[in-house]
Amino acid sequence: MIQVIEKDKCCGCAACFTSCAHKAISMQLDMEGFEYPEINQEACTDCGLCQATCPVVQYEKRQDLRKTNYNTQVGFAARNKNYDQRLISSSGSIFPPIAEWVLDQGGMVVGVSFDKDFNAVHKIIDKKEDLVELQGSKYLQCKADNETFKIIRKEIQTGRKVLYSGMACQVEGLKSFLRKDYENLYTIDLICMGIPSYIVWQKYLKAFFPNEKIRYVNFKEKSVGWDSFCFRIETDKQTFKERGMQNLYLRSMFLTWNMRPSCFQCPFKNTERISDFTLADAWGVSKQTPQINDNKGLSSVVVHSKKGLELWNTISDRFDSIKVSLDEIAKNNSNLISNKPQSGNRKLFYRMFAQNPEEAFVKLCTEYEPSRIECMIINIKNKVKTLLSLKFWTIDKKKFNELYDYDMKFNASFRGKKTFSKEELSMLQIKYLWYYRKTQAAKDSIWQNYYRNKLIKFSNYTSIQLYENMNIPKGLIIGHPGTIIINENATFDGNIMMTHGVTIGRDVREKRAGSPHFGKNVCIRCNSTVVGGITIGDDVLIAPNTFVNFDVPSHSIIIGNPATIHHRDNATEGHIGKVE
Ligand SMILES: Cc1cc2nc3c(=O)[nH]c(=O)nc-3n(C[C@H](O)[C@H](O)[C@H](O)COP(=O)(O)OP(=O)(O)OC[C@H]3O[C@@H](n4cnc5c(N)ncnc54)[C@H](O)[C@@H]3O)c2cc1C
Ligand code: SF4
Ligand code: SF4
Ligand code: SF4
Repeated sequence: MIQVIEKDKCCGCAACFTSCAHKAISMQLDMEGFEYPEINQEACTDCGLCQATCPVVQYEKRQDLRKTNYNTQVGFAARNKNYDQRLISSSGSIFPPIAEWVLDQGGMVVGVSFDKDFNAVHKIIDKKEDLVELQGSKYLQCKADNETFKIIRKEIQTGRKVLYSGMACQVEGLKSFLRKDYENLYTIDLICMGIPSYIVWQKYLKAFFPNEKIRYVNFKEKSVGWDSFCFRIETDKQTFKERGMQNLYLRSMFLTWNMRPSCFQCPFKNTERISDFTLADAWGVSKQTPQINDNKGLSSVVVHSKKGLELWNTISDRFDSIKVSLDEIAKNNSNLISNKPQSGNRKLFYRMFAQNPEEAFVKLCTEYEPSRIECMIINIKNKVKTLLSLKFWTIDKKKFNELYDYDMKFNASFRGKKTFSKEELSMLQIKYLWYYRKTQAAKDSIWQNYYRNKLIKFSNYTSIQLYENMNIPKGLIIGHPGTIIINENATFDGNIMMTHGVTIGRDVREKRAGSPHFGKNVCIRCNSTVVGGITIGDDVLIAPNTFVNFDVPSHSIIIGNPATIHHRDNATEGHIGKVE
């Protein structure tokens, strides 16, 4: 008897439901109010497609896709400049401008809206005036449907642009269902602590607003400030407002009692994501960017892919934004990378809820206030969990090998060889690369400080300054040691060559504020400077002693100060390495 996956791991993304051509799968509600696939064994032909499509079953196998996707990661604290639009959104209102750009191209947008009973559902729109329905976080799981993914597939296959927004597990489900990557599909996922059951939500409404017609719900309105989590319901009889933890529904969510079991062991909470954008509240990060925080909504944004970054750069004038590191985002919003522990009271909540929902909310939510000792125990448990995780004790060897092996092939081919001899491996710039990649691979492990200190020492010795947090993807050649300085916010697509005297810097002035982004296959010759929030395209050669502070198209040679652009196909041929 086939089962797609163990129940407690199933995130309810419905990819299996949609993919089964024999209509053998239906989604069934359990007692807690979550939907799970149920297989009609008589209709099932045992073809295995559901398991091949399940993003949880396939998680490890799809890791390479995430790795290639997240090569271009950049983090921002950002807010939509359109104040009215921002007030309607839950955070900094990053979703609407991205959606409008897609709609402007004749595309279609899929996001989460309320249906007439205030259940969350995925809705497809192609008009800007409908966008408002998708704005605002709905803190309950969407009802599973087996149409949305199919419609998306049909539309993207016609070449139309599509934006899909949902939780990380839903984006994974969609991509797994599609089986291949489409250039015209854009995806947004959210940082999430987990997802509550829609039956708990419906029973909450019935218990506390009996005989009232619900007209409007906002889980996070901003009249008393974005950080206050103000919950608002309008019915035919009243307008009801309550702040975050005072509201019993939100409280049951923050205490994790109404959350889907898979959310306590979710594999998708990670910086390595398959989406183009991850959006969240700019918790914590907002303190570092007070100049753009008016307490009416600020977001943390992670752009993962090259395609996402191109879109972001196209509409960047619609945002006030400041680059922040992914580490900063994760440090202040741990739901990006780690799961919440399951509360001991979750079972009790559901037991009481089955008997009397109102009592479960009122009694349990108001009476149960975790004591300081309980909080301490939870914290200690979390710390022990981190300490026990393998990643903490060892450096990420796979990551090191991937980066360093490629670098060596790339460097050797630049010098017209297949591999380096022992003597060549002891060249200072090659040794530097070894320490740099080791430090990157040791991140979050007990070895982090050891390699970081080694790198700093070696930096002083060679005058090469690369920050270990800077995500320079595989393919790095340092031509000669000697002062090389790179601002830590610069970003790279991979395959870059630089040599002594190169400076990559940040500009602080309005128009060009920020640090450069480099496309693939870029060669920067000695004593050149590249500065500001500019984009250097693919296959670009920057000649010695050149000063660049403007965008450079792909396939160019840049010469001099003031610099001039010369178009040339294969501009970097022979100037950088080539890995087959
Ligand atoms: C259940 C849930 C838990 C969350 N947990 C966290 C958290 O722990 N930390 C954090 O920083 N941020 C969390 N968020 C994300 C945050 O609340 C904002 O949704 C996000 O920052 C986007 O804000 P925005 O202003 O750009 O989007 P808005 O303009 O407000 O648009 C909302 C976006 O969220 C999508 N969305 C709304 N409800 C759902 C849903 N039920 N399922 C899937 N997608 C939905 C919509 O399609 C739309 O794209 C959570 C969101 C949800 C729905
Ligand atoms: S094995 Fe094939 S037929 Fe059976 S439920 Fe899965 S997808 Fe459907
Ligand atoms: S995680 Fe998604 S694809 Fe996998 S079993 Fe659950 S609903 Fe089906
Ligand atoms: S934590 Fe979020 S992404 Fe993970 S299973 Fe739950 S809803 Fe999906």
